[in-house]
Amino acid sequence: MNKTYKIAVLPGDGIGPEVTEAAFAVADAAGARFGFTLEKTAYAIGGAAIDAQGTPLHETVLEACKQADAVFLGAVGGPKWDHLEGAMRPESGLLALRKGLGVYANLRPVRIPEGLAEYSPLKPELLTDVDLMVVRELTGGLYFARPKGPWPTPEGRRSAVDTLRYDEDEIARIAHTAFALAGQRRGKLTSVDKANVLASSRLWRDVVNEIAAEYPQVQLEHMLVDNCAMQLVRRPAQFDVILTENMFGDILSDEAAMLTGSIGMLPSASTGERGGLFEPVHGSAPDIAGKGIANPCAAILSVALMLRLALQQPEAADAIDAAVAAVIKAGHRCADLAAANQTNLSTLEMTNKITEVLG
Ligand code: NAD
Repeated sequence: MNKTYKIAVLPGDGIGPEVTEAAFAVADAAGARFGFTLEKTAYAIGGAAIDAQGTPLHETVLEACKQADAVFLGAVGGPKWDHLEGAMRPESGLLALRKGLGVYANLRPVRIPEGLAEYSPLKPELLTDVDLMVVRELTGGLYFARPKGPWPTPEGRRSAVDTLRYDEDEIARIAHTAFALAGQRRGKLTSVDKANVLASSRLWRDVVNEIAAEYPQVQLEHMLVDNCAMQLVRRPAQFDVILTENMFGDILSDEAAMLTGSIGMLPSASTGERGGLFEPVHGSAPDIAGKGIANPCAAILSVALMLRLALQQPEAADAIDAAVAAVIKAGHRCADLAAANQTNLSTLEMTNKITEVLG
């Protein structure tokens, strides 16, 4: 039977709407091939929502997103709203959305498509077989725990505090996410911490070790974060799934993403108890917005993640990943990745190439 999924679509600002349209052209083509329908409803977020509703994330939009099977976001922000402060900034809409949806696991797959190794800052021989996934805890740790803020000394000198606290449940739920993913991939999990100096990391390690017993097919190793930062540029192909807490993950996921060297190719997912939020890693690219030249691949690969992780359509997700890889391998490029002597494809032309291969 043809299955129907409810998708909340938040195109956002700048190139957000352009790449979102491309992503769903491909997703709908996959639906036609694999027998499912995406019932899409569009909502404003970020600058578009500030203009239309006076707030970057209206409560009715958050409610609609909570009711959907999955949420897709293009990008938010732009110079038009740069003068705004605090909760009125477009990016606040995105943070409120993540918080409101309770998505605690941020997933960033990193793969170097055949033909794009030259964009990486690393030597091509280090990139062979790189296929890793960073699983970052997104709602706890140093960015959220209290106390936080100014902490004047008894003598009145300026001082400030942030708190790094995790409880065992926060660690356990993200560890389950990472073990399950590793089980579906190559079966290796690297848990990254700083257990030699941090008490929260020692708890992290204990809880991850306990949960490992439930996943005998996954090989677990622990790595200190400083070593992981080094290994990511020394021998990135050794990693399958990297699991880590919020701040370490913030830094390591950007480091890992840059192995590819091409922001227009990077997808991401943030998942929680159900559904999830799927978005390209790049921003709204105001410098190229409206020109029809944005690379849609990051958004298209994000929709593939949505099909895989939120909608349990792994075959459709595999087919989209393969179609993007085939089109890149065949030498097709948007302006961001085209060499001087190469023809640039527009967003639409690139999307059409991918849908053609998808069949
Ligand atoms: P950006 O990712 O928007 O752009 C950086 C550079 O990469 C630009 O030169 C841009 O043209 C290029 N680029 C990005 N995506 C591309 C694509 N798909 N195809 C071709 N080229 C692409 O980052 P920025 O310039 O630092 O930020 C611009 C705005 O986006 C800011 O308002 C920022 O706050 C916002 N932003 C939003 C998100 C998000 O919505 N998740 C993430 C990052 C930045």
